[in-house]
Order: sequence, then structure tokens, then C-alpha cells
Amino acid sequence: LAKELGKNTFQFYRADKSAAATRQFMLEGYLRKALAKNEFELYYQPKMNIKTGELIGMEALLRWNHPELGMVSPADFIPLAEETGLIVPIGEWVIQTACLQNKKWQDEGFLPLKVSVNLSARQFQHNLVDKVSLALTFSGLAPHWLELEITESILMQNEETIISILDDLKQMGVLISIDDFGTGYCSLSYLKHFPLDTLKIAQPFVRDLSKGTVDSAIATALITLGHSLGLNVIAEGVETTGQLRILQDQQCDEIQGYILSKPLSSHDFARWLNTEASKGPELVT
Ligand code: C2E
Ligand code: MG
Ligand code: MG
Ligand code: MG
Repeated sequence: LAKELGKNTFQFYRADKSAAATRQFMLEGYLRKALAKNEFELYYQPKMNIKTGELIGMEALLRWNHPELGMVSPADFIPLAEETGLIVPIGEWVIQTACLQNKKWQDEGFLPLKVSVNLSARQFQHNLVDKVSLALTFSGLAPHWLELEITESILMQNEETIISILDDLKQMGVLISIDDFGTGYCSLSYLKHFPLDTLKIAQPFVRDLSKGTVDSAIATALITLGHSLGLNVIAEGVETTGQLRILQDQQCDEIQGYILSKPLSSHDFARWLNTEASKGPELVT
């Protein structure tokens, strides 16, 4: 019986594995057509300066709306897009769309905000500087209204090349932020080699902020050390007023998270700017 069971388990495992492979294969096929079929959309999530209560910007977050699969989460398709290299044309679309949308909002008379775009490592190997420059020229957006969010793993890949690309982008006037900081293996002293503007504290360290845990001690250390490197510090994934108060006490500069708003479609974000955004200062005082 045990043998029989073992066999079944094995077959079950195999079936499971091939189902996953089939799904992956299907997803990849769909993903290849997604750009041409206009299935991508950018959502926007606000960022606020918690010392002044001013809105300062929004992060552009990619959404894939497939007619049959529905909304596919970035966690499911970004890794696949990175593996297949599809992230290069998709990422280019993201940069262009974010710049165009931001310029459009500025032209419509909204308070000028900076827009942040997430980058993948692969994009650094495919004329990133030219593509950013082109997106700025084509949209007419001034460079200081564009910020690029990169992760620690990107910095650690090919230090010399990355520094020279980031230098070119800085020269252009674009801002650079290090995303999800604290989750990788990058030391703070390593950071000083890169031309950065902002350090973004990863969500896990923000989540338990109010509990006096090790994570909250890490958050405190990240804020202090970020400031000692002359960086602007933002906390992501802020959900509660408890977390907000502690971040204010610890002199964190900015926040992003559900406490302000979830990521919204461009239509809903514009509406949010017209209504909820004005309540910001109320939140921080
Ligand atoms: P990220 O850049 O760290 O973005 C923040 C993620 O946290 C977003 O997930 C956002 O919806 C979520 N979030 C924001 N506030 C809260 C909060 O208060 N609580 C909780 N629980 N979550 C919050 P999302 O939109 O699913 O994106 C996941 C990741 O996918 C991003 O993490 C980023 O690494 C990647 N990504 C998204 N768009 C792009 C893109 O255009 N290009 C690339 N290369 N990666 C992207
Ligand atoms: Mg990000
Ligand atoms: Mg992040
Ligand atoms: Mg991330």
C-alpha cells in the first residue's frame, strides 16, 4: 500500500508540475501579445511628505488586464517578463506612459508631482539612458519630475556599468531611488558609491513598526543611516496611523501606502487628487 501511495503521490506531483508548466507556457504566449493588444495599464499610488503634509509624487505600478485571465498580478508576470526579456519593451512602454501621463496632469493644472517608475536589471543592458531621454523629450516632461526606482540586486550586478548609467541619468536631471531597501544584501556603506536621491524602506520593516520588534529597530536604523548618507527616506506599505506616528517621531521624510490610498487607475487617481488629496495635511498633524 505504501508503495502504491508513493506512486500516486509521485504521479500527482508530476501532474501538478506539468500543469504549472502549461500555465507558465500559456502565460508567456499571452504576455508576448499583451503590449500589441494594449492590455497593460499603469496604476498610480500617492506619496506624501509627512513633515509638511504635502503630496510629492506617485509611483506608477504596472497592471495587466487579460480578457480571459482577468487582472494578473505583477508578482505573477514581472518575473516571467524578466526571464523572457519581454520586460525590456514593456519597461520602455511604462517609462513612456508614466511621463506622458504626468505631463498631461501638469498641463491640466494639477499640482506638479514626480512620477516614479520601477526598473528591472535587464533594462540597464538595453540603452536605458537613450530610452529615458526619448520619453522625456517626447512627453515634454521636465526630468526632475521623473524618478527611477531600482532594487539592491540591480546595484550589485555590475557595479561599474550601473554607476556610469546612473551618473548619466543624474546628469540628465532624473531622480534615483533605491526600492525595497533592507531586503537584499546591500550594505549601507556600499550605497555611498551610487548617485542616489532616496532610500525606500521595504514594507516588512514598516509592518511591525508599532510592536517594538527587531523590524522596528531596523526601520529606525535605516532612517538614521539613510539621512547620514544625505538621502531622502521614504517608508512604503504604511497602513495605520500608529505606523505613521512612529515614522514621524523617527524623522522619516515621506510615506506611501494604503493609509493614503491604494494604487488607482489614472482616472481614479485624478479624481482622488481633486477630492481626498486635500485632506492630506489633516492626516499628519
Ligand atoms: P514595489 O515597487 O515595491 O511596489 C510596492 C508594492 O506594494 C505594490 O504592489 C503596491 O500595490 C503594494 N503596496 C503599496 N502600499 C501598500 C500597503 O499599504 N500595504 C500592502 N500590503 N501593500 C502595499 P504591486 O503593485 O503588486 O507591485 C509589486 C511589485 O511589482 C512592485 O513592488 C515592483 O517590484 C513590481 N512592479 C510593479 N510595476 C512594475 C514595473 O512597471 N516594472 C517593473 N520592473 N516592476 C514593476
Ligand atoms: Mg517600487
Ligand atoms: Mg518597494
Ligand atoms: Mg518590489
